[in-house]
Amino acid sequence: MTSGGPIESAIFPKGVEISSNSFTGKVWLQRLVTDATFGCTIGNVTFAPGARNSWHKHPGGQVLLITGGTGCYQERGKTVRILHAGDVVEIQPDVEHWHGATPDDWFCHLAISTNITQGEVQWLEPVSGADYGCSES
Ligand code: MN
Repeated sequence: MTSGGPIESAIFPKGVEISSNSFTGKVWLQRLVTDATFGCTIGNVTFAPGARNSWHKHPGGQVLLITGGTGCYQERGKTVRILHAGDVVEIQPDVEHWHGATPDDWFCHLAISTNITQGEVQWLEPVSGADYGCSES
């Protein structure tokens, strides 16, 4: 099921468009928790249809809580997982992966970067068209 248009049921603010060569397509970020006291950061990330991040890994791991639209998650060497609101993705430290929208729908998730004292996200190459085999149908 796809909507094509903006997510009308978005829960958290859309924030500002990201300008980074680690993303393909239009992506927005609203930082929600930034206080290092908590050992994690939480951001609301919104992907336009077809948008996704490059392959990357998190030294301290990451948890994604899906809040809207239709998305994709893939770990290196594994099949793509299709995501909907209510899904939870647990990403172990240093596991190479990418996440983003399907070609035909918006996608929105909370990104919780855990154990942030372990280090910053490490960006790798963009997701190729062949790897972006990401569709619900
Ligand atoms: Mn990630």
